Amino acid sequence: MRDMRWIYCISKRKRTPLIKNLNRALARTKTRKHNHHFCRYCLQGFQQKHTLNKHLRFCSTLEAQCVTLPEKGYDDFLQFKDFHKQMRVPFVIYADFEAFAQKTETRPPSDASKSSTTPIIHYKPCGYGYQIVCVDDDYTKPPVIYRGDDVSEHFLRSIMEEEGEIKRNFE
Ligand SMILES: [Zn+2]
Repeated sequence: MRDMRWIYCISKRKRTPLIKNLNRALARTKTRKHNHHFCRYCLQGFQQKHTLNKHLRFCSTLEAQCVTLPEKGYDDFLQFKDFHKQMRVPFVIYADFEAFAQKTETRPPSDASKSSTTPIIHYKPCGYGYQIVCVDDDYTKPPVIYRGDDVSEHFLRSIMEEEGEIKRNFE
């Protein structure tokens, strides 16, 4: 049960809504005096009705949400633990691909009532560039640029060769 409209007080065999006007009930949670429109699923407030309606289209499809606050003395203190990620790595490879956008032949889906994705553009790689940077400047290389056929395969072969060279130099 996510919709706050369905919170009832069941007494005397009558189902009486506990919250009759959600906007009025939650208005005191806002410091600004604007009229707010609250989402009945997540209780987020919006100043514009159309913004709420836009939000409702997505929020109403989500599962129930619950805010959990840290517990004092148990998980109320966060600290950085991934110190290994701060260490300098000996080699870094910066790489970038260039590609042409080519229109693809599109066919309408056979069943229009079902949701589907139709690709309309295919990216064809036409070149790449990379540079190997080392903490030791003696091993830093000038940039490598390639334009031609079989770009992806050529890139993978080149990187594998670079890896082999790096391993040979440091074994
Ligand atoms: Zn919501």
